[in-house]
Amino acid sequence: MKAVVYKGANDVRVEEVDEPRVEQPTDAIVRITSTGICGSDLHMYEGRTPVQPGTVFGHENMGVVEAVGSAVRQIREGDRVVMPFNIACGTCLNCERGFTNACLFSNPEGVSAGYGYAQMGPFRGGQAERLRVPFADFNCLKLPGAPHDHYEDDFVLLSDVFPTGYHATVLADVQPGMSVAVFGAGPVGLLAAYSAILRGAAEVYVVDAIPERLDRAEGIGAIPVDFTKGDPVETIFELRSAASPVADARRPGEEKMPGVMCGIDAVGYQAKDESSPDHERPTQVIEDLLRVVNPTGAIGVVGVYMTEDPGASSEAAKKGSYTIPWAKVFERGLRIGSGQCPVKRYDRMLRDLVIAGRAKPSFIVSQRLPLDAARDAYDQFDHRRPGFTKVILKPETKAA
Ligand code: NAD
Ligand code: ZN
Ligand code: ZN
Repeated sequence: MKAVVYKGANDVRVEEVDEPRVEQPTDAIVRITSTGICGSDLHMYEGRTPVQPGTVFGHENMGVVEAVGSAVRQIREGDRVVMPFNIACGTCLNCERGFTNACLFSNPEGVSAGYGYAQMGPFRGGQAERLRVPFADFNCLKLPGAPHDHYEDDFVLLSDVFPTGYHATVLADVQPGMSVAVFGAGPVGLLAAYSAILRGAAEVYVVDAIPERLDRAEGIGAIPVDFTKGDPVETIFELRSAASPVADARRPGEEKMPGVMCGIDAVGYQAKDESSPDHERPTQVIEDLLRVVNPTGAIGVVGVYMTEDPGASSEAAKKGSYTIPWAKVFERGLRIGSGQCPVKRYDRMLRDLVIAGRAKPSFIVSQRLPLDAARDAYDQFDHRRPGFTKVILKPETKAA
């Protein structure tokens, strides 16, 4: 079958690989109908992770079950399914506690497992015609409808970016009436802003520098902030002091809370330096969040930070070690949550919001392309070219 194979930095190719087969009685084989390219894939693509050449990429996978192992009881051939990017056994200590992002059993090489990803075990990804899904009863979320119907692009986002954006709002303690700042207007940032609005936030600011992405943020009712036009933290302070819906209702002293209550990092360690956007500044977003989040507020960090970054500019950063103003966290009494999203905790409920017509996360999808277009799509998405906000590959579509 065909699959997207990592060859080395800035080089992926669509190649023939062996068909997956049922290896364990708990496996299923899924024929892929949609599979996303993620900002997380770009960290690997750019050679900024320890991923091995030969790895098949793809952790945002959905399709139709073609075969199941003898121990699979609840998922059947023909079922339409989407899989969390985390592979989880469902029965270990952490899975039972709801932390499927830290499954202790799936990955023989460490804590937490995933499809086609650096440091997440020996599992092939789903940017391919077919995928082996371990612990299929647990990992397959069953879907209504038929392949390529009007839900297809909403459902594929249940594998990662919609739950991850939602998780960021849980970590940042977003509640009705809250003010929220989201850094990053990529798929994760946009869906974090969307989730904040679903959860009833009063004000949602979204910071980025890509006009098309900021327009999408504005399109869902968020307030766009372009970091190339001035310090985004000062901009948010100014917008809040003047244009916030509650600006006129403040009591004396509230000027000491000029920022927001909830902050979200949807950028990660490859953050651009705001004063020099051609350069990276891995701590840029964390530093901004520590300024923009008010005392007693909360921060959700879902942007990725890698413990091994071969492309980092300093020895410390190569090991994921950064200098941040930690005393500010204490002084302000901030809560910080971080890490991979436990997708399983949210995917079923978010699916039902989609089915009920209350959520349509596919507003972020900009490109639907055949698998054969993957090499070019990676290049375009990596350059954040206009029109490449979220690419979904469709292995059943033939190239034109
Ligand atoms: P993306 O690369 O498309 O989006 C990142 C955005 O951040 C870009 O639009 C970029 O212009 C913007 N940006 C860069 N520097 C910035 C700065 N200083 N301030 C504000 N914006 C800035 O990626 P994505 O798919 O949206 O993913 C975002 C991050 O989330 C990545 O690090 C990805 O690996 C991570 N992620 C984490 C999880 C998880 O489970 N925690 C899941 C999926 C993705
Ligand atoms: Zn992803
Ligand atoms: Zn487990």
